[in-house]
Amino acid sequence: MKANLDVLPLDSWINTGGKPLVIAGPCSAETEEQVWDTVTGIAKEGYAHVIRAGVWKPRTRPGGFEGKGEEALPWLQAVKKETGLPVAVEVATPQHVELALKYGIDILWIGARTTVNPFNVQDLADSLKGVDVPVLIKNPVNPDLALWIGAFERIAGAGIKKLGAIHRGFSNAQETKFRNSPMWQIAVELKTQFPQLPLIGDPSHMAGKRAYLYELTQRILDLNYDGLIIESHRNPDEAWSDAAQQLTPSALGEMLRELEVRKPTYGSDFQTELAKLRGQIDHIDRELLEVLANRMALVERLGEYKRDNSVAVLQLDRWKEVHKSRADWAKSLNLYPEMVEELFKLIHMESIRKQTEVMNQQVV
Ligand code: PEP
Ligand code: MN
Repeated sequence: MKANLDVLPLDSWINTGGKPLVIAGPCSAETEEQVWDTVTGIAKEGYAHVIRAGVWKPRTRPGGFEGKGEEALPWLQAVKKETGLPVAVEVATPQHVELALKYGIDILWIGARTTVNPFNVQDLADSLKGVDVPVLIKNPVNPDLALWIGAFERIAGAGIKKLGAIHRGFSNAQETKFRNSPMWQIAVELKTQFPQLPLIGDPSHMAGKRAYLYELTQRILDLNYDGLIIESHRNPDEAWSDAAQQLTPSALGEMLRELEVRKPTYGSDFQTELAKLRGQIDHIDRELLEVLANRMALVERLGEYKRDNSVAVLQLDRWKEVHKSRADWAKSLNLYPEMVEELFKLIHMESIRKQTEVMNQQVV
């Protein structure tokens, strides 16, 4: 399907003075005082352009805190009036949209558990027809880029042009370091297909724990995302949802000040050096592929030899030895072991495919 989205640039609907957009606020609006203290604390620090707060909370199992609902919307109106900062909430149903708009909420976001369901997203799109409100769409919980893109197409189909993507990572089947695996390549692929679509990183829901926020946020900035959405609570340990991943407004300020936003330099020396390095990389990539082609030619000969001597393609002992020796070589060359492992899995799969092809060729 032809990919195309009619999207307005981020700076046409929010002014960040050329800096990455920062959306900050509590996971959930819990009480009037908690919203007030947290948001005025954030505003005092001066780093946020938008305030976030969950009012309707999708919970995996019933019985948890499911958000204050409509009752919390006037609390957000009050902090918006006090700080002048626009506010964003998560919407999951047309009724949420209606209420959010009724209370003057400025930005809506669609949560990861909603993006997975095209019926749900279409209902939201239908409720947004003729409305001029920015909508941010979180990635679906499962790593399915097409599903994420489909949600943009549905919301764009309702005439929404102020769109943005929130990358919050993907659910894991097994326990991993992060609560949700970033799988950066999925967000990078989205940005490659839709360069005009603002991309916002959500280190809070990737991390799950405060200790990982710094490294994830720096990574997001290094990948040149257009902004961040980060959770902050006046008293994180007491938060009614996502307690382990929130920071106080001042701790968040401290972290953001320590991060490095790498600004492009446009001097001609820089451009010349960049072009030179890229030229060298192009050259090496070409060599890499030539070496790979030589390897595949040998694999083909090996396949013929095995065929002529009735030896099976897959020899587990040999594969184990390849695996081990490449891991050792990678180590001595200071290469990231997981990358080398993945690379050799791919190369090995291709070798097996090639040899199987050779085995099944008619001998003339
Ligand atoms: C949230 O932003 O608090 C939230 C529920 O996030 P997600 O949809 O990414 O799980
Ligand atoms: Mn949360």
